[in-house]
Amino acid sequence: QAAVRAEALTKTYGAGNAAVRPLQNLTVSFPAGRFTAVMGPSGSGKSTLMHVLAGLDTPDGGDITLATDRGPISLTGLTEKQLTRVRRDSIGFIFQAYNLIPAMTAEENIVLPSSLGGRAQVDKTFFRHVVDRLGLTDRLHHRPFELSGGQQQRVAVARALVARPSVVFADEPTGNLDQASGAEVLDLLRTAVDEFGQTVIMVTHDAAAAAVADSTVLLADGRVVQTREEPSAEELAAA
Ligand code: ADP
Ligand code: ADP
Repeated sequence: QAAVRAEALTKTYGAGNAAVRPLQNLTVSFPAGRFTAVMGPSGSGKSTLMHVLAGLDTPDGGDITLATDRGPISLTGLTEKQLTRVRRDSIGFIFQAYNLIPAMTAEENIVLPSSLGGRAQVDKTFFRHVVDRLGLTDRLHHRPFELSGGQQQRVAVARALVARPSVVFADEPTGNLDQASGAEVLDLLRTAVDEFGQTVIMVTHDAAAAAVADSTVLLADGRVVQTREEPSAEELAAA
């Protein structure tokens, strides 16, 4: 059962000689309740794919099907309002640079705006569970500038998980973190899959991060060139 399925996705920026084609007829399927790492060289289209799958950017062609609590829906052809609702209810997104709102406390950042589309419905018990699990209980009233990078990223992870979206996208979530903080974030994403039943799709360059995932999708030049259950040493070295 696929949580996200993309069929023949194309995306072009610019035109003529200046055209860049980050997605070139890309077809891929991400299984539900699994942790998938997306790897590939810089410029191979990983970020563009995450943004398009999460409804943050629109493809020029192709189709995206997302499994939601209310059944599968096609993201292509939704109005902006419908897309906002799908992002809010069914998708979480973790950015490499955290993207927290500086004027808000950790708690406000977690519960007020969901990461993508307005106010989420947050269950108080689950909120407590997530915050506790992330070690943020005594940091809830701090603003981002009063938190370490690792704590800020944990706030961003909490924000992405707390509304219980079925799919969580993470674009190099450990890219700015030291090894210990990175390991904590990966542990949380693993928890999202193993305990909360969510699907995690994570872009990474980091072999240690990819090793936490159940399977790997390797991109090159806007296409999927390999998928496998566990990354090989060569794959990790090449990415
Ligand atoms: P990756 O995440 O694998 O490094 P990206 O998806 O960020 O790859 O980028 C793929 C290609 O698309 C790159 O050549 C990049 O420069 C280009 N690109 C990405 N976003 C834009 C944009 N908004 N405008 C123009 N080119 C872009
Ligand atoms: P829908 O589009 O599904 O009707 P809304 O985005 O209007 O949903 O609201 C979703 C939930 O968030 C509702 O429970 C609503 O009461 C609450 N909500 C939305 N915006 C605000 C706000 N600015 N202040 C307080 N609660 C809000």
